[in-house]
Amino acid sequence: MELEYKTKNAWEILDRSSVFSFAEDYKHFISEAKTEREAVNFFRKEAQLQGFADIFSQGTSDRMFYAVEGYKSMLLIKKGKSSLENGINFVFAHLDSPRVDIKQNPLYEGFDVAMLRTHYYGGIKKYQWVTIPLALHGVIILKEGKKLEVCVGEMPDEPVFVISDLLPHLARKQMEANAKEVIAGEALDPIVGSIPEGEEKEKDRFKKHVLNILYEKYGIIEEDFLSAELTLVPAGSARDVGFDRSIIASYGHDDRICAYTGVRALFDTEMNNKAAAVVLFDKEEIGSEGITGAQSDFLEYAIEELAKREGLRISARSILHKSSAISGDVNAAIDPIYRDTFEEQNNAVFGRGIAVTKFTGLGGKSGASDASAELVFAVRKLLNDNNVPWQMAELGKVDAGGGGTVAKFMAKRGIETIDAGPALLSMHAPIELASKADLYSTYLGYKAFLKNFDFK
Ligand code: MN
Ligand code: MN
Repeated sequence: MELEYKTKNAWEILDRSSVFSFAEDYKHFISEAKTEREAVNFFRKEAQLQGFADIFSQGTSDRMFYAVEGYKSMLLIKKGKSSLENGINFVFAHLDSPRVDIKQNPLYEGFDVAMLRTHYYGGIKKYQWVTIPLALHGVIILKEGKKLEVCVGEMPDEPVFVISDLLPHLARKQMEANAKEVIAGEALDPIVGSIPEGEEKEKDRFKKHVLNILYEKYGIIEEDFLSAELTLVPAGSARDVGFDRSIIASYGHDDRICAYTGVRALFDTEMNNKAAAVVLFDKEEIGSEGITGAQSDFLEYAIEELAKREGLRISARSILHKSSAISGDVNAAIDPIYRDTFEEQNNAVFGRGIAVTKFTGLGGKSGASDASAELVFAVRKLLNDNNVPWQMAELGKVDAGGGGTVAKFMAKRGIETIDAGPALLSMHAPIELASKADLYSTYLGYKAFLKNFDFK
């Protein structure tokens, strides 16, 4: 009997060729889908190809369904052999990531340079977002109602946008500032042009030149920005890191890595006993608000519709009360450079598999939903029985800071919920790092959960 507990590096356990080939599929997704809208479009296309039907329309499938709410959140479900009455095994994840949004009246110029005003979204270190190539994504609706999907800066021959920073030679004052104030919220404005238009005596010639290009190329006028949803994200595709190519550098692992592994796990499981579902939310980074956030009742609405289709006379609420869930979100791996911020015995180690978290929160576990011993045991047993590399983890040292996930909003509905996902390095930075072994372990963990978990 092994008395002492030790975790193992997932590379020692997993089949490496499966790990690397799964990572290639993920890199394709994470490079394509950089916003919640793009992720929803990606998954909807794939779901339709696989024969999933829209819950709210008369589809052909009677077993596999999806529903999209407000363009940015989505539910995918495969019904099981038994009735929905017996509950659902869920994986929840979120599709939004920290970024720099464009304001509603953004265009201006100064000293012969045209720029856009911005308002950042989510928890960022603002100084990380300057002097890097950014791409513009989103939608803009033209005056007569035509909707344009915007994506500029991802192809090698397309222009990118860059937020400038002070040269070190003149940064004496800036270098003394608190890191929070080094770059002000109003200083995250990208440069979008520098060629004048019209007569020298005219005003706003640089702004006008940009407006002219936008009109000629896309039919956009300045008023169209008022209703637009545009955002700046780091430009370019995901890349391998390290001589051994074991790591993926990408924007937005948090939390589309859990969204992708969850959806892939659902696609790759056959008919289970219980229904299995993946629900992808928006707005997690700003408190899970709005009609697409985890606090909305989109989940109840979709489940109610499914129950109706099955001829059940029970509420969505009672189905949810019989359900269990993994709240799929990323954790923080111990950064060897900043080891003092971590508690080595209870924090996640990069590459040691999916990190299971009993409670999140701040200070004295404030804001945590806290999974019960019984639930944690059931997940421990499931992962062990299925040979999934995994580790138990909480986020950083006590009082170093903290964070939350959608877990509490799900637990509040009576769903037994536990957090589990890969642990990243540089979470919330423009480029985050994920271990390919953790990515694959997360997929295996979610697949086992969706297929076999039986707690209630
Ligand atoms: Mn997250
Ligand atoms: Mn986050």
